[in-house]
Amino acid sequence: MNQSSDLDLELSESEMHLYSRQILLDGWDIEAQEKLKLSNVLIVGCGGIGCASAELLARAGVGKMTLIDADTIEISNLQRQMAFTEMDLGFYKAEILAKRLMSINPHIQVNSITAKLDASNAESLIASQDVVLDGCDNFTTRYSVNAVCKQFNVPLISASAIGFQGQLFMVEGDSACYECLFPKEQHMNESLRCADSGVLATTPNVMASLQAHHALLYLGLNLTPIKQKLLLWDGLSMKQRILGFNFDENCPICQAR
Ligand SMILES: [Zn+2]
Repeated sequence: MNQSSDLDLELSESEMHLYSRQILLDGWDIEAQEKLKLSNVLIVGCGGIGCASAELLARAGVGKMTLIDADTIEISNLQRQMAFTEMDLGFYKAEILAKRLMSINPHIQVNSITAKLDASNAESLIASQDVVLDGCDNFTTRYSVNAVCKQFNVPLISASAIGFQGQLFMVEGDSACYECLFPKEQHMNESLRCADSGVLATTPNVMASLQAHHALLYLGLNLTPIKQKLLLWDGLSMKQRILGFNFDENCPICQAR
C-alpha cells in the first residue's frame, strides 16, 4: 500500500501546523522534525506493541513506515490492540493498521506486508531501514530480526510484554545483541509466546510508548539512552530498572562480524 506524499525535505505549511507542538519543544527543532520526515522505519508485528508504536511514530511525523504481520484480527486482540475495532475482524492487521496511519497523517508513506518476516524477505526489508522496531510475538522472528539488523548494521529497538512485565532494549552499531542477552539455546526451548499467555491491556501499550519514544530520540536527536541496556518495567510495582548487558563470547551473530 503506497501513498504518494510530500517527499521534499522541507516541511510544508500544513506539516508545520501538524507538528507545531513538537517544533515548539525546547531541544526539538525543525531540523529534528525534518530528520523524522526522511526516516524509514520497519515495524515487525502489528499486535499490541506494533499498533501503538506505529501510530505514535505516524503522528510524530516519521516519513516512511513499513508494517509486516501475517496475522488477521481476532476478537481477543481488541482488548489491547488499539488500532482495531469489531469492524476489522478477519482482516489483515498490517493492512488495517496502515489505513489507520494514513488517515491520521496524510503526509507520510506507509507500506503493509501481510507475510511473516523470514529468510526470504528479511534482508531486503531490513537493509534499507534507519531503525527497526520489533514487537512481534515469537522468539524465532526476534532472533532473525536481530541477526539481520546486526548483519546490515541497522539499529534495533525491541519491546516485549507478557503478563504484568515489559522489556525494552536497543542494539546499535558496535553494541552487544539480542542473542548475547538471550542465548538461543536457552530461550528457544521455552515455548512461551505472547499469543499463548495472559497480558493486561495496558502493559503492551506502556512498552510500545517507551519503544516509540526511544525511536524518536534516536531518529530526531541521535540519542541512544538504552543502547546495550535492558529496561525492565514491572506493571505491579510500576518500578522501572535499567541494566547493562555484555557481549556473549559464544554469540554466533557477534562472532560473525
Ligand atoms: Zn551478540
